[in-house]
Amino acid sequence: MLRIQNLKCSYGSITAVHGVSLSVKEGELISIIGANGAGKSSLLLAISGLLKNWSGEILFQEIPLKGMSPPAIVRSGISMVPEGRQIFAPLSVMDNLKMGAYTIYRRGMKTEVEKDLEMILDMFPILHERVEQLAGTLSGGEQQMLAIGRALMARPKLLILDEPSMGLAPKIVDQIFNTIVTLREQGVTILLVEQNARAALKIADRGYVLETGKMVLQGSSDELLVDDDVKRAYLGQDYGDFYDGRNQ
Ligand code: ATP
Repeated sequence: MLRIQNLKCSYGSITAVHGVSLSVKEGELISIIGANGAGKSSLLLAISGLLKNWSGEILFQEIPLKGMSPPAIVRSGISMVPEGRQIFAPLSVMDNLKMGAYTIYRRGMKTEVEKDLEMILDMFPILHERVEQLAGTLSGGEQQMLAIGRALMARPKLLILDEPSMGLAPKIVDQIFNTIVTLREQGVTILLVEQNARAALKIADRGYVLETGKMVLQGSSDELLVDDDVKRAYLGQDYGDFYDGRNQ
């Protein structure tokens, strides 16, 4: 579904991603793990069209994304849940969700949008209770749910999540990861970028390890969870139910 070949991303003279290749097949849940500054967000910004200065190839359903605008990329079926949620703080929960359906509204699919809203409010009952509340006053976990709901309103074929566990308590991380598993079971293809390696690898089919802009390792999640280098560098912490102490 998504194929990236030899991707290089730069900010002026700084190269953040040095020739990265990866693929995501339809129905897969793929995780990219890496520390701060590894280049994870740069990679996602290139996929979403927000970063223009990249070379290499990004193909989504065999269509090259090079030169496409961010709205066109969303229309093609890619939705992103950005790092730090980036919800519209002064707008209500309802308006945030409707904003996610912007590209669908424009196609005149009002009834479909109403149905999607219902489905998302069922999925996140806490948002249902708070539809009129200003999004900026939600807790971190609620904001993360809202950011996921908003991305789903665009009816993505590929959902990309950038560090959804960031800053959340272990119990809330469990809730968010359970939601990701449910979405995957419903047939959404998912690319999950995380520093919380253990939690991400536990739910993913395959994983990639990004270090200082280079893909240094890839494999099935089971292989990566027992890999000595991965264990040493990324699997040192306890994160609620998604942690069972196996690899300490
Ligand atoms: P984090 O988890 O901290 O967000 P990351 O893996 O997402 O890290 P990136 O944000 O992609 O990493 O950063 C990769 C490299 O690119 C870093 O060295 C960073 O300093 C650099 N970088 C990122 N954004 C910019 C920018 N706007 N201008 C200059 N350099 C940047």
